[in-house]
This record gives sequence, C-alpha cells and structure tokens, in this order.
Amino acid sequence: MPRALAERLIHEAADMGIFSTVGFTGGEPLMFANEILALADILKTKSIPFTIATAAHWASTESATNNLVHELHARGLTRVGISSDPSHQAFVPKVNVIRAARAFAAHGVETHVVGAFFDDSTTTESMFPELAEVEGVSFKTHRVCRVGGATKKRLNVSSKATESHIQGLRCYRSIYHDIVVFHDGKTYPCCSVFNRAARDICLGDANVDSLRRLYQRAEGSLLMRALKRQGFGAAYQVAVSHDPTLASALPKLVDAKDACSLCRDIFGNRDLARRVHSAFAEEEVDRIVALVRNIESTLGPSVRDTIIDEVIG
Ligand code: SF4
Repeated sequence: MPRALAERLIHEAADMGIFSTVGFTGGEPLMFANEILALADILKTKSIPFTIATAAHWASTESATNNLVHELHARGLTRVGISSDPSHQAFVPKVNVIRAARAFAAHGVETHVVGAFFDDSTTTESMFPELAEVEGVSFKTHRVCRVGGATKKRLNVSSKATESHIQGLRCYRSIYHDIVVFHDGKTYPCCSVFNRAARDICLGDANVDSLRRLYQRAEGSLLMRALKRQGFGAAYQVAVSHDPTLASALPKLVDAKDACSLCRDIFGNRDLARRVHSAFAEEEVDRIVALVRNIESTLGPSVRDTIIDEVIG
C-alpha cells in the first residue's frame, strides 16, 4: 500500500472517531518496519492503539527483537498475532517466534501465536511447549481454508457441518465491522481469508472513496446486517421470499463448512451474488414502505413528510 494512502486512512479514521484500533496485516507488514513506525507515530498523536500480524522474520537476535518490540510498544501496540506453522516455518525459524513472543509478552502486549494446519490433529500450542508457561502468550489454531494456493492442496480437515452448525453460520462479528483495506485500496467489511474470492462483498476502492463512505456502505447494508446479526439461514429466507428460484440455486446450508466459505461460494459467483443483492434491495424497499406507512398511521402525514424531508434532504 502506498504510504500516502495509509496516512490518509489513519487521518480519516481519527476524524470519524469510531474505530477502536488500527491493524497492520499482510503479507508481512514488518518487511516495512520503518514505515509502520512512522504510521504508528501518527496513530499515537491521534490516540488510536494498533495491532500487528507478523511472522517474526525480524526477530533474529535478542537486541533486534527487543529494539523493535520496544519501539512498537512505545507507540501504542496493544496486541500482536505471530503466525507460525509448517508453512511459515519454511521461511522463519521457530526460535524467532519464541524470541518475539517472549519480548512482546514482557512488554505487556497481548500476544497470540497463530497457526493454520492442513489436518485436524495438530495444534499451535503443541508446537510451542517453550511458550506454554509464558504469561501473556496464548495460542490460536486454525485449519487451512480452500482458498488461494490451498485450492490445489490436499486438506485433511472435516468439511461437512452438522445441522447444529447452521445456527452458527453468520459473520464472526455481530455488530461492529473490521473494515479491511487491501494494498490496492479494495475494501471489505470483515477480515476473512475469503475476502478477495468473495468479490461481491467488496465495499469499494479506498483510492476513490472516503473511509466514511466505505464504512457507510457496510453499516447501511441490510444484507450485511442480516449476515452479521441473524446469519445465513435468515438471509436465505429473505432472499428466497423475493426470488423463489434461489431456493435451489443457493448452496445448501447443511453442506457449508463455515460462514465465510459459504459467503465465498455465494458472493464469488457473480450471477448468484447479483440475484441475492437484488432480492435484498426489494426487501429494503418493502421495509421502508412499511415503515413510512407505520409513521403515517401513527403520527400523521405531516410528521411523515417532515421525517422524510429530514432523512432525505
Ligand atoms: S461471512 Fe462473509 S461477510 Fe461475514 S465475515 Fe465471512 S466473508 Fe465476511
């Protein structure tokens, strides 16, 4: 990402005053450590804390590690995710991860060591017995998802959800958004490995639109609210009520591995995505008409007109 775009986004986020944290992720953001420190300086002046996802390639000596951790912490780093698993360890030795995790934890930074595995049996914790007793360090274990280079790999993970999982088929955050801006400006309403594959959930391009506008697109979307607060089951009902042919066209909920995989299957398919969006556009019109009628019958036509003038005008 060009530094000017990152700086602009930070200033806009500060002006909006609604973001709790800025996160730097990648790729590997600390390939550009000096630029991250410069951006963190701006964040500090705005009193916005930040987080980082890193694989800790930079933690090759004690002094290099402590210096960088100290500089990051001094500027407001509150949480770090250190990615380490066989895929990352082909490039970054475990010893770097252990060194970095200890240094972050010693500075009081919430530290997560995060791994993604090709099978169901390995856990991140089991790979790092050296960190088991370190206060402030915790572990997260993920399974590799069928996306990007992993579409060509053999994944030995369970792929079928049971009926009881259907209720859980919803976005990982029910209220707030993780607004994610990629290096090229493409912006998404969540942090999912499937963002780029689910291109029809893209909110727009930060090179063109303001952060406020992009945020409003996420917050103002009835479809997004349904996916976040009620889940795909409820969203399917709305979509099918406006377009019954979607009942057979949408992927089966019982076959869904997880919400984001399902999201990719729907919103990575242009035709299906268009039909779902159009069903929700009709639903939105129906709800607005019902609301306006309700206001009219409760408060009268004159108050209705005043409210509509204020909202629209
Ligand atoms: S279900 Fe879709 S919109 Fe929700 S978090 Fe996953 S990828 Fe994002």
